[in-house]
Amino acid sequence: MLRKKEVPRDPVWYPFTQMQEFAGHSPLIIAAAQGCWLEDEQGKRYLDGFSSLWANVHGHRHPVIDRAIADQMGRVAHTTMLGLTHAGGIELARQLAELAPGGLSRVFYSDSGATAVEIALKMAYQYWQLKGETQRYKFLKLSEAYHGDTIGAVSLGGMDLFHERFDRLLFSTIKVPTPHLYRHPFAGDDEKEIVERYFFLSEELIEKHAEKSCGFIIEPLIQGAAGMIVHPPGYLKHIRDLTRKHNMLLIADEVAVGFGRTGKMFASDWEDVSPDLLCLGKGITGGYLPLAATMATEEVFSAFLGDFSELKTFFHGHTYTGNPLACAAALASLQVFAEEKTLDTSVFGPKAQRYSEGMKRLETLAHVGSVRYRGLMGGVELVQDKNMKESYPFEQRIGHQVIMEARKEGVMLRPLGDVIVLMPPLAVSLQELDVLFAATEEAIKRVTE
Ligand SMILES: *Cc1c(COP(=O)(O)O)cnc(C)c1O
Repeated sequence: MLRKKEVPRDPVWYPFTQMQEFAGHSPLIIAAAQGCWLEDEQGKRYLDGFSSLWANVHGHRHPVIDRAIADQMGRVAHTTMLGLTHAGGIELARQLAELAPGGLSRVFYSDSGATAVEIALKMAYQYWQLKGETQRYKFLKLSEAYHGDTIGAVSLGGMDLFHERFDRLLFSTIKVPTPHLYRHPFAGDDEKEIVERYFFLSEELIEKHAEKSCGFIIEPLIQGAAGMIVHPPGYLKHIRDLTRKHNMLLIADEVAVGFGRTGKMFASDWEDVSPDLLCLGKGITGGYLPLAATMATEEVFSAFLGDFSELKTFFHGHTYTGNPLACAAALASLQVFAEEKTLDTSVFGPKAQRYSEGMKRLETLAHVGSVRYRGLMGGVELVQDKNMKESYPFEQRIGHQVIMEARKEGVMLRPLGDVIVLMPPLAVSLQELDVLFAATEEAIKRVTE
């Protein structure tokens, strides 16, 4: 081996991680996986209760996806989409266009959720420039939005913990209050009234900024990273109606909620909403390889057409855009959705029922303030005082404590602050759901009681 100098035993600088805590030790090393189970170097098994960060759909080492990637390997691992193309990329785009809501017909590939969002942002901006409405440059977003960690995506985000530090590097945006039914700023607890207020606030802001705005970006139905905040029914439709009425684009970031998590292929489908731009990532390859897509309507796409000299081209691309191995995995994942009728069995079938029962049981615990979910995606918020909705002190890291206890019970989770995320692969079995909820309940009780 080539060696020039001494290096740390593990030189990896881990994401979202206070490295001082590791003090030379690595985090748990995962050596293998099968179905919904992860295995560490000692052979200890853990149920993958967070889908390896909200990505895995059909389980690990699914034979159909494994084979598709191996077959593609036998042809070519990577070529480019800059000036050339490949059959798998075209076929996947066709299938996505067939599946996606309403008028979304064009597919621009990239390699992570954040890049899918950057692309949507630039497309929306350039679209209005090309339409001659050059006064438009603003974006509306929800107050606790999360759209990824690159600077454009962070500008569209609203989570102070991740974003505030970079304030001066960001472009300014219009913050629309997140429709949060558990933690809201209004007096009283009449849900109908609270929902009306949120509906009204969004309407006011959209109206006010309509003339100068490019678009409104939203995580449909569930704001994931903000703590699995489930929007009231009709909110997405409401935003769609308003953005249409006031002539701005609707950008749906389905990086987390897409590919069946909430029970339909896309969360927008629940409210028959067709966005102008749609961001996909995470589960697109079944959780196997980095791939993302930004989908656009024919109306948006056609604004970019013209003679080369008109400079209407969308000048954007990444080296690994539309990587063939990733496209092969994504095609195989869609094939598995069809063959295994994943949506029917997971979400409208007994699994959703069992998941919902598990959530309702957790809701009865003394320190569970709120449970929030759709389909097989959700979380439980831990509180010090249930009546007062009083949070634990930040330094106590109550969520972290709970997931470390769950790990002892053989279940792998990752919290969002005080919210314990429960988001298994759609392939999870009823027995595995029982394991997930039993371990979570035990861990919460052990830490909070
Ligand atoms: C995870 C996530 C992203 C970012 O995706 P990466 O692949 O991590 O860049 C963007 N939007 C939402 C809603 C997400 O949950």
